Amino acid sequence: MTNETAPLKVTIVGAGLGGLAAGLALRPFCEVTILESTAFLGEIGAAVHLGPNAHRILKKYGADLIGHGAVPCRSFQEWRARDDKLMMAFEHDPLAQVGIEWALCHRADLQQELYDLAISTTGEGIPCKIIFNTSVVSCDADNATVTTADGTVYQSDVVVGADGIKSAVRPSVIGDTHFRAVPSGHSAYRGLLKAEHINANPELKEMGLLNGRLLIVDGGDHRLVCYPTRNQTLLNYVAILPDTGLHELSEEKWSARGDVASLVKSFSKFPQRFQDLLSLTETCGLWQLRDQDPLDKWVKGRTIIIGDAAHAMLPHQGQGASQAIEDGEALSAFLRGVSAADVPKALDHVFNVRYRRATYAQEISRGAGLGEMRKKYVAKLGQPEEDMDAPLNPSQHQKFVWGYFGAAEWEKTKPDWVITE
Ligand SMILES: Cc1cc2nc3c(=O)[nH]c(=O)nc-3n(C[C@H](O)[C@H](O)[C@H](O)COP(=O)(O)OP(=O)(O)OC[C@H]3O[C@@H](n4cnc5c(N)ncnc54)[C@H](O)[C@@H]3O)c2cc1C
Repeated sequence: MTNETAPLKVTIVGAGLGGLAAGLALRPFCEVTILESTAFLGEIGAAVHLGPNAHRILKKYGADLIGHGAVPCRSFQEWRARDDKLMMAFEHDPLAQVGIEWALCHRADLQQELYDLAISTTGEGIPCKIIFNTSVVSCDADNATVTTADGTVYQSDVVVGADGIKSAVRPSVIGDTHFRAVPSGHSAYRGLLKAEHINANPELKEMGLLNGRLLIVDGGDHRLVCYPTRNQTLLNYVAILPDTGLHELSEEKWSARGDVASLVKSFSKFPQRFQDLLSLTETCGLWQLRDQDPLDKWVKGRTIIIGDAAHAMLPHQGQGASQAIEDGEALSAFLRGVSAADVPKALDHVFNVRYRRATYAQEISRGAGLGEMRKKYVAKLGQPEEDMDAPLNPSQHQKFVWGYFGAAEWEKTKPDWVITE
């Protein structure tokens, strides 16, 4: 353990969006090492949209998402698949309304930007050291040590498990080696379509799909979500459907290459133009969507889990990465100025402030989900002791989620959302 005046030594496991954002948040006053199992930056899965809540945090750390190709989201449309009817449409201007854009980011661009900022020699504090090809196999949560597959032991003051839904750090924190996120009963195809291919189809071109719009086509238990990214040169889509409606297997793999003909066949009840849109796919991924109940704890001793390792959620609110980014900011808010001896208390503080908000995002993602997930959520709301006083009206919800200005401010202004015992 380092002495009380030296920068805290932090080991972050995982260089996904959550781990990199945490590294960026902590580098001003910590010596950060990030251990990543893959050989290089590996964000796959097309695009991710970051609401003003997460964008605001990244901007504070010097990120320029729009400058790196993210498209500002300025309008929304929802179509009904059954009769191709426009159910909802509005324009909005988050920059004018809440001071920062809702950013439609290409995942690889976002991850690269966070990586560059984390290791930059000109940024505040100490550049993060990022070690690839290093898989953590176990963690001693109380002593803040992790052991990698080649037997190397990393000793620090704090371990942050940002190693995703199949976290290797999580068992040492929750004491349960069998805990797993479970199949939700739905899968998602994800792909990117080239602007020139869309524009070659007059009907699709006419729709203005690349104009900073998030568009949903609601087909009951099938749903298509699309939005542009990378300077409007690509259209990202997520096409969600029940596993029982798949024309190919997705049951054992969490993510795999999808088959375009099977994808289009699965959406054959959608209006022809949306089938034409999906047919433009060159390659796509197929994800089995996993769901997990909220955990009771994220912290043990000197170790905390964040992001999907702590609170993996369904993608229906697009808040998974944003909540991971909020977690990283909370670490910097409550570890700053803390001695090595006081780390466990500071991590408990992070949990107490973050838990209810992240759990709300998890729950509301179920609520916006399809099939059994939605039923489970609605049933849960029927139990008063489980009711978290959630602002369920959609516009209130958006205001609530986007109106986040960091963990310290949250603690001050939303005491009901903070665990106090
Ligand atoms: C279809 C779909 C759409 C989504 N859309 C959105 C969206 O629009 N907006 C949004 O905010 N969220 C979205 N999400 C959720 C979001 O992708 C995740 O919540 C987010 O990526 C989680 O980030 P993370 O860093 O916690 O975990 P991950 O991204 O899983 O990163 C974990 C990292 O840890 C590494 N790792 C794993 N195990 C080890 C180990 N043992 N040792 C070392 N390294 C390890 C991995 O290689 C990886 O790099 C979506 C998810 C899905 C499935």
